[in-house]
Amino acid sequence: MANPSLLILAGDGIGPEVMAEVKKIIGWLGDKRGLVFDVSEDLVGGAAYDAHGVPLTDETMAKAQAVDAVLLGAVGGPKYDTLDFAVKPERGLLRLRKEMDLYANLRPAQCFDALADFSSLKRDVVAGLDIMIVRELTSGVYFGEPRGIFTEGNERVGINTQRYTESQIARVARSAFELAKRRGNKVTSVEKANVMESGILWREVVQKIRDEDYPEIALNHMYADNCAMQLVRTPKQFDVILTDNLFGDILSDCAAMLTGSLGMLPSASLGAPMANGRPKAMYEPVHGSAPDIAGQGKANPIATILSFAMALRYSFDQGDEATRIEAAIEKVLADGIRTADLMGPDGGVPVTTSGMGDHIVAALDASL
Ligand code: NAD
Repeated sequence: MANPSLLILAGDGIGPEVMAEVKKIIGWLGDKRGLVFDVSEDLVGGAAYDAHGVPLTDETMAKAQAVDAVLLGAVGGPKYDTLDFAVKPERGLLRLRKEMDLYANLRPAQCFDALADFSSLKRDVVAGLDIMIVRELTSGVYFGEPRGIFTEGNERVGINTQRYTESQIARVARSAFELAKRRGNKVTSVEKANVMESGILWREVVQKIRDEDYPEIALNHMYADNCAMQLVRTPKQFDVILTDNLFGDILSDCAAMLTGSLGMLPSASLGAPMANGRPKAMYEPVHGSAPDIAGQGKANPIATILSFAMALRYSFDQGDEATRIEAAIEKVLADGIRTADLMGPDGGVPVTTSGMGDHIVAALDASL
């Protein structure tokens, strides 16, 4: 059988630096676990613009469509700020998301014990937290028509339209239920059915899919404003939160920050199942290209390593290896190993980007 295939698009700024540490882990899995990937690499963002005059070539797009998963670093930087909108680095990322039709955005909020004091909430509220937010990514109010700024009588009016079809709701709901099966079997569906018709439809469709196809999953419904409150009050009540594009945008940032540094946050964007049954998928850290620290060995590679761990779990059926990597990270953090962004008042052992990768590989070795 062919090896699983992975396209690495490291991008700009700290992208290549953090990706170098992921490559160490990929190498380790091949050497020590016999898990070999067919890895290809290509350019995206400013790096692709410099080489080809576009932020993503058709050839790279075709490669992304053909592999089992894409792993992306970050794009952008001050050098490209004055470029035309059509060739800005971010357009490469948007093209990937659009053409792969990645409609389910997964944002975990997981609190490593050693970093619980980084949260603005009390330790006992966040320690051990493990939530997954599934945000619908390609529809809703950011895309609905009509939209624009129009003139009505003597004044202007700004209009955006919240619009969801049953099938758009159904496919992201299925992504959330499938995820819940691999986690705690619990989904909280979030909308504003009290004041929005799109919310009423959302609730009906999600409930119907659960009743027909996922009876083993516990489903509850919550209004978005209440969910925001609950997230900062008792976040551990949640397992999978399923929500639309707008509410998901806000709630996922809120939940992510429960856990501390931007350098720790992974994400995945999933689309429809491919012929092999795996979803189309792109994995990437939440952070950007961090031009302020690029090239200095200061970037924290953990967000990108955790994104790769998500790929192992959701694209490659290697949940045990994903758990092994997460445990290695937990161990390294518990030992006080810290990149600059994780340095707290209690100090720690300062390491570079590469040093953090080496420590994680050593912890993986120790796990055998
Ligand atoms: P950013 O996420 O790049 O950086 C914000 C702050 O967090 C910076 O101080 C940075 O040093 C720090 N930081 C980020 N990642 C870190 C890491 N792994 N380790 C340690 N510190 C880290 O956001 P920004 O500064 O607003 O944007 C910089 C560039 O990145 C812009 O061109 C922006 O358009 C782009 N961007 C890209 C993506 C993406 O590729 N998905 C996302 C956001 C921003």
